[in-house]
Amino acid sequence: MPFIFLKKLAIPSKISTYLSRTLIIITVAITLLVGSVLILQQTIYFKRISEQKSKDYVDNQKIYIRDIVKNELEYIRIQNQFFKQKIDSKIRQNVYQATRTAESIYKQYAGKKSEAEIKTLIIAAISSLKFEMEYEEVFISSLDGTGVYYPRNPEFTGKDMRQFKDANGTPVVLEEIKLLKTKEEGLIEFNHDSPTAKDSALHKKKTFIKKFRDEIAQKISSVRFKFGGYVFMNHMDGSPIVMDGEVYKGDLNLITNADNIHHRVFMQELEVAKSNPEGGYFYYKWNKMNDTIPSEKCSYIQLFQEYNWLIGAGFYLDEISQSIKDQQKMLREEQKNSILSVLFILIMLLFLEGWIIYRFNKKYKSDFDRFFNFFYSSQDGFNQLEISEFQFDEFKQAGLAANQMIAHRHETENKLIQEHNKATESDRLKSAFLANMSHEIRTPMNAILGFSEILEEEDQNDDDKKTYIKLIRKNGDMLLNLINDIVDISKIEANLLTIKKRPLPLTKFLDEIRHHYSEVLATRLDKEIQFRIIEEIDRKVSVLTDEIRLRQVLDNLIGNAIKFTHSGSIDVEVKIIGERIQFSISDTGIGIPIDQQANIFERFIQAEQSSKINFGGTGLGLAISKNLIQLLGGNLHVKSEPGKGSTFYFDLPVS
Ligand code: ADP
Repeated sequence: MPFIFLKKLAIPSKISTYLSRTLIIITVAITLLVGSVLILQQTIYFKRISEQKSKDYVDNQKIYIRDIVKNELEYIRIQNQFFKQKIDSKIRQNVYQATRTAESIYKQYAGKKSEAEIKTLIIAAISSLKFEMEYEEVFISSLDGTGVYYPRNPEFTGKDMRQFKDANGTPVVLEEIKLLKTKEEGLIEFNHDSPTAKDSALHKKKTFIKKFRDEIAQKISSVRFKFGGYVFMNHMDGSPIVMDGEVYKGDLNLITNADNIHHRVFMQELEVAKSNPEGGYFYYKWNKMNDTIPSEKCSYIQLFQEYNWLIGAGFYLDEISQSIKDQQKMLREEQKNSILSVLFILIMLLFLEGWIIYRFNKKYKSDFDRFFNFFYSSQDGFNQLEISEFQFDEFKQAGLAANQMIAHRHETENKLIQEHNKATESDRLKSAFLANMSHEIRTPMNAILGFSEILEEEDQNDDDKKTYIKLIRKNGDMLLNLINDIVDISKIEANLLTIKKRPLPLTKFLDEIRHHYSEVLATRLDKEIQFRIIEEIDRKVSVLTDEIRLRQVLDNLIGNAIKFTHSGSIDVEVKIIGERIQFSISDTGIGIPIDQQANIFERFIQAEQSSKINFGGTGLGLAISKNLIQLLGGNLHVKSEPGKGSTFYFDLPVS
């Protein structure tokens, strides 16, 4: 049951429903398919683009943070350079000042005092200046104790100065570092073995170093870039300088006393910076500013060798996902638009289909209606369909077939009517024939019986008796001919007549005919007829035929000619046309009306019904003759003009 329902659903009984359903299913399926492919394509494209974009983003960000680090390094380098130049010029100024002082003393006392006195004065003046120079002398050392700038002892640069001791054996640099770890600045007193060394120089040095570092740290901590990016800076010894975007003030050491995460990241950073003098990238997890959950981060780190500072900057990888999320939103928007477009197209297509189906239904319905009307009107007889009114070729073809059927039907009907008329006519003719027969039979029978009775009477003389016997004989012959005709036509109609064809030498045969009819006509004193046989053939020519039947036909035709000709001539003409021999029997008799010329070959038909009284006959002779000629391989036809005569033609094959 459900199966039948499904089948009905799939193939409904109405053509229009079936068509609409099929079209709609196909349209919906194709539209959805095309739409899905489009959306899928968009998704794949988006995936590819996002992958490309995130890769580009990471690459760009990497370059970006690297540039930031390089910039900051450059800044430190320039500041460092500037700082050194400043100190150098100070020293140079001191030298110039000493030289100028010596020169002015010399100029002032030259010639006034002895050279030795002037020298003493100059030394005294320069000594005081020297003190000032000593005061101005600057040393730079990094907080880990590495020698950075020692104008008088360039060999100290890069050396571990922690073990450097004064005259008293005090480790001066180590003391400095200790102090700076607790204070911003301070004074350390120690005895320098050098005659130029002074405590205040150390103090100055400390102050300069501090200032320089602070300035740099301050500047670097202020650097910000997009998505909350900042620059960080650590000392290689593990002490942070700038951390999380601020100058670090605490006493954390990332090597010795930091938590696991900070320690691990620093070690990673140290490793990368050490192995890549030009700087390198490293990946780790780090809390964002104002965030407690660590995020994936990529940073670039490079060592500023002179101070053993590690300078770095990084970006969080999940920032990319935000940018991708924005794009995804855009894609979803685009997809929504695509789906809406597809739906719009689908609706438009469905409307279009609806319109097409409506138009189609209208057209094909009108074609069907034409057929329905045609069949409904069949009770009143079919009328031909007007083919040009059909809309579709298929219906036009069906219409043509229907028209052909009607034509055939009309033909059959006409044939049936003709057959019916024929049967009716035949029936009528048979009745007429029977009436005629009875007359034809009775006439000779009456004559035979009448003359037989007279002969029985005794007072008859011999001449009369002979005449009566002749008449009895003649009527007997007529009766026999009549019976023969009836037998023949019956045999022909029952297909029982046998034909035996043999070559028949024509000349002899025609001689016999000529001889026979010359005799017959000689006895017919009521007729004035000239009988001729015209042969246009070779004497040896034979015809392939059944002699008895050919003679029967000729007897019939010549007999009719004699019967319907009162005076004039009867010509039997025989000639060869190609491979056939044509016979024609023409007379100058009464002729046959044109409308009767086709009918006379039918059984029992006589051209002139009224003429039978005059001419007698059964109306069978020509029907028998036509059939016989057909059986002999020829065709019998007539040409006649009423009042002038008739000619019957037939042809047979040459033997
Ligand atoms: P029947 O002569 O016995 O009536 P047929 O079949 O021989 O029958 O001839 C049919 C009719 O054809 C005749 O009744 C006659 O009207 C017409 N007919 C035949 N031969 C001739 C002819 N030579 N001249 C005029 N009418 C003819």
